[in-house]
Amino acid sequence: MDKNMQKIPLVDLKAQYTTIKPEINSAIKRVLAQADFIMGDVIDQFEKSFARFVNARYAIGVSSGTDAIHLALIALGITKGDEVITTAHTFTATAEPIVWLGAKPVFADIDPHSFTVDPNKIENLITRKTRVIMPVHIYGQSADMDPILKLAKKYKLFVLEDAAQAHGAKYKDKRVGAIGDIGIFSFYPGKNLGAYGDAGLIVTNNNKLAEKIFLLRNHGRTTKYEHLEVGYGDRLDTLQAAILQAKLPFLSKWNAQRRAHAALYQKLLNNNSKIVLPTISAYAEHVFHLFVVRVPKRDEVAMLLKQKGISSGVHYPLPLHLQPAYSYLKYKKGDLSETEKASREILSLPLYPELTAKQIDFICNTLIKIIDKLK
Ligand SMILES: *Cc1c(COP(=O)(O)O)cnc(C)c1O
Repeated sequence: MDKNMQKIPLVDLKAQYTTIKPEINSAIKRVLAQADFIMGDVIDQFEKSFARFVNARYAIGVSSGTDAIHLALIALGITKGDEVITTAHTFTATAEPIVWLGAKPVFADIDPHSFTVDPNKIENLITRKTRVIMPVHIYGQSADMDPILKLAKKYKLFVLEDAAQAHGAKYKDKRVGAIGDIGIFSFYPGKNLGAYGDAGLIVTNNNKLAEKIFLLRNHGRTTKYEHLEVGYGDRLDTLQAAILQAKLPFLSKWNAQRRAHAALYQKLLNNNSKIVLPTISAYAEHVFHLFVVRVPKRDEVAMLLKQKGISSGVHYPLPLHLQPAYSYLKYKKGDLSETEKASREILSLPLYPELTAKQIDFICNTLIKIIDKLK
């Protein structure tokens, strides 16, 4: 590899910090000066701001996106023997909390264009044990919510949105999160709105669910040493809330930059018949957490890009139904054909707000050359 070659990472968190250093540093300093590290006003303020942002009545900050899913499922009453219909084309955290509660994840295949759960594949999977449908707004694009909500109504099921990758994304005119009964967000550092550590949040318009989660995330306490329920130590860290509150005003701009970069990628890669570009569903405002193309000989292409200094990713290389961790569910290869096909072909190209047009140009030229030379 050429030493002077520029390297383009998949995401660049340092670049973002450079643009907002004064805001972040003063937010952190304020928390340090108050020495109020657990709960407090900062949490309330961030929750109110985020609730307003997604137009939900309640937002409850928690320790991570994974813990958010866990608490949301508990609040919905999910317990041993229940079934939750979701997607296998996701990060394992979507399904883990289902298993923790003794419930069973049931995987529906994806729509090959949006990569989100195919609403037409859900109804056949509904049994007397089904309690929840859990779409994932993967890569920053909403799942097709109306048919999912219709099925939920017909069979009296809850809808839990995994919006960990979709802060600010819209379904029709609504921001995702509280379109269903309850929704979760992750603020893992690389997400569209990222903390500087682990953090997550739950949104809902249902006051009973909100009350329950406010209680559960903080040891079930009503006062300092009064515990109404056996709860969890799943609070949102106050320093992380301060950082998130400082970053939230930039989120819409960052999402717009991501969309602009995606549009440039689309324009520059449009003429190559071997590269399948991501589609934006008619109902969606995409926030491009990831820019995912399909290419032939994906692993070879990724390796050749790396040799030119370009990092890429695969989200995700092995679908959940074929992971060793979920082998007890007895799925086999071929059960979810679109999910499996996607996992072989997908490649995430670098995408973050601070990426430049020049870098995108270089990535596209390099990718096209690689693809054209493939045997
Ligand atoms: C990141 C992510 C999660 C988990 O969030 P953490 O904050 O890392 O626990 C859950 N679901 C999806 C789809 C994710 O991308």
